[in-house]
Amino acid sequence: MKIFSHRVLAPRKIILIFLLAIFLPSLIAGYLSLSTFSKRREAVKKILESNLWLSGEAALNSIEGALFDHEKKVLSRENFLYLKHPHKAQQTFLSSSLLLKDIAGELFLLDADFQVIFPEIGREDTSVLQWGKEVLNSQFGRLFQRAEYDEFSEKNYLQAAQLYKKCISSAPSKQLQAIALEGLGRCLLSSKKYDEAYKVYSDLGRNYGSYQNRAAHPFGIIAILQLYEIDRQRSKEANYESVLDLYKQMRDGVWLLKPAAYDFYITEIESILNSAVNEGNSPEIQKSFHELRDQSSPYRQALTFTDLIERRVIPKLREKLFLSGITGKFEPGRLLIPVENDFCLISYTTLAEFQPGETFYGGYCWDLNSLKKELLPEILEDITKDTDLLFQMVDQTGRNILTGKEESISKISLSLSYRQFPLPWRLIVSHREINVLERTARREIFFYGILLTTMAALMLLGAFLIARDISRESETTRLQSEFVHNISHELKTPLTLIRLYGETLQRKEDLSSAEKRKSYEIITKESERLSHLINNVLDFSSIEMGRKEFNFKKGDLSQVVRDTLESYRYHLEKKGFGIHTEIASGLPQINFDGEAIASVLVNLLSNAMKFSPRNKQVSVKLFRDNANAVLQVADKGIGILPGEVSKIFQRFYRVKNKITAETGGSGLGLTLVKYITEAHGGRIQVESEPEKGSVFSVILPLANPESENTE
Ligand code: ADP
Repeated sequence: MKIFSHRVLAPRKIILIFLLAIFLPSLIAGYLSLSTFSKRREAVKKILESNLWLSGEAALNSIEGALFDHEKKVLSRENFLYLKHPHKAQQTFLSSSLLLKDIAGELFLLDADFQVIFPEIGREDTSVLQWGKEVLNSQFGRLFQRAEYDEFSEKNYLQAAQLYKKCISSAPSKQLQAIALEGLGRCLLSSKKYDEAYKVYSDLGRNYGSYQNRAAHPFGIIAILQLYEIDRQRSKEANYESVLDLYKQMRDGVWLLKPAAYDFYITEIESILNSAVNEGNSPEIQKSFHELRDQSSPYRQALTFTDLIERRVIPKLREKLFLSGITGKFEPGRLLIPVENDFCLISYTTLAEFQPGETFYGGYCWDLNSLKKELLPEILEDITKDTDLLFQMVDQTGRNILTGKEESISKISLSLSYRQFPLPWRLIVSHREINVLERTARREIFFYGILLTTMAALMLLGAFLIARDISRESETTRLQSEFVHNISHELKTPLTLIRLYGETLQRKEDLSSAEKRKSYEIITKESERLSHLINNVLDFSSIEMGRKEFNFKKGDLSQVVRDTLESYRYHLEKKGFGIHTEIASGLPQINFDGEAIASVLVNLLSNAMKFSPRNKQVSVKLFRDNANAVLQVADKGIGILPGEVSKIFQRFYRVKNKITAETGGSGLGLTLVKYITEAHGGRIQVESEPEKGSVFSVILPLANPESENTE
């Protein structure tokens, strides 16, 4: 019991020692080195982060400083002085970018009443629309009203034409003369006097082009369109060239029309030119028309820009300027105006004494494309030059403003919003070094982790193997002591009987012959049992010492089986066993060790006998199964529990039950059976059911190269 408990404790002790002396210290050491490493990394990271904060702030200041410089340059007073007289160069300037070449973006100029002075577009001219009393009461006025009455109410175009002619000669100004001329042209057209009408409109276009009619439409445009119409009526070849020229002039802003009038005439002219295209006339005109149409119209842009200024910018500007009027600080300011999916950044300034006694207002709408693609990258490049900083400019959704793609932002980065410029973007500042540090740290943690885990796993595996070996060793030791006990008992019984009957034969001389025979039989039987036992022990010890040698010879296996069975039959029958044999004859000769195979059969028969206390039936079969010879010993004894089947072949192992305890045995029989079978290149199979019996099959290959070699 003492030995037993000592053995059970041993593996536990070793595991404990392993845990305390190797495993835990290694784990602690690993953990400490990892944590020191990550602390050091944190410290470096913190230094870099604070550095990042300082550098980021400085970078933002530099960017805004550069934007201020640009703004200052653009909002200079001289630039606006230029805009005040855009026609100086005998050319219409619709956009400041044409006027001031180095400025991307648009400038605008407002007068003291917040009226847009630049860009210059068409304005209402009320003097043309409404005539004063002196005009209405003059001879011209009276004649003109009568002419209009005849034309529109009476539809008497000839009389109206006469009256309009009189108006022309009595008109007090060239403007009124032009209006009367238009009336004359209309009446001539209505009375289908095309040739005369053509002359009138030619005169109107040539000499009165820049004057406007009462709907504020320039006669220059009206004349060209009417001449085109007259040509059509006269079925003459239309003058598309002059229409195309007019189209170009309008788009370039030669005629300062109001938006509605511009859009009306552009649609009108485009439909004329489209019909020219459809009719397949003048390929050159077609080509120029398409080229023009595909470009954006400068005047339309000016109109849109002015509309934006008037509707969206001026109200906000007034508000801001009102507030700065309260504080008395008129500094340049900025407005961010959302436009559709984008936004518009406006910088503005007050222009004090722009005109004697009047303050004007100048403004600049930034060109965001050039800001994104040229200005900001230039500024960032300047900042990045001497640092290790990385800059990314992203919008509110985290997309890069240049590429429009989602930016992968480093975890350790600084996100800064613009302070002075209301740009809806953020500046992401990160440090190249931090990124490298992060990557290295991640890699190191990964490798350390793997190393530590592998170490721990290997240690645990080692500990497991040691513990298993120890427990196996202690089990063997236990079995060995049991073996010594069993074997002594096994030796003692036959020896006692041999001695007893030997002495009886020696001392009693008057023994009957039957008694004598019984004594000799017992002595022979017990000495056979003894020699079987000793043979097993000797075989086992020579196997253990590696000295077991087999004497393989080609021979008839069935003969050996038959002979062995015959010599054992007596024991079986004496114990009351029914024997059933089925020995196939005609098996091919194989290589085997006759003695060894006989000992296999004897061991199996001996077990069948020992473990069949009630139903005493033994069957021995030898048959061929494909390429194997199978020697099968079956009994109807106590059987073996499924969990024990794999263990019964271990040395010294004996199943713990009443029958095993009662019957003698060394626990070596099946170990030898297995060893011998395997030495013949075969294997052993057990089918057993408790209380039903067991079948042991020794399967030997008919062609056995191993045994042939050893022959
Ligand atoms: P033993 O000397 O105990 O017979 P073996 O190695 O021959 O040793 O057998 C090991 C154990 O296997 C036996 O103690 C017994 O418990 C079990 N055993 C072997 N053969 C049989 C069988 N035919 N029926 C039931 N149990 C068996």
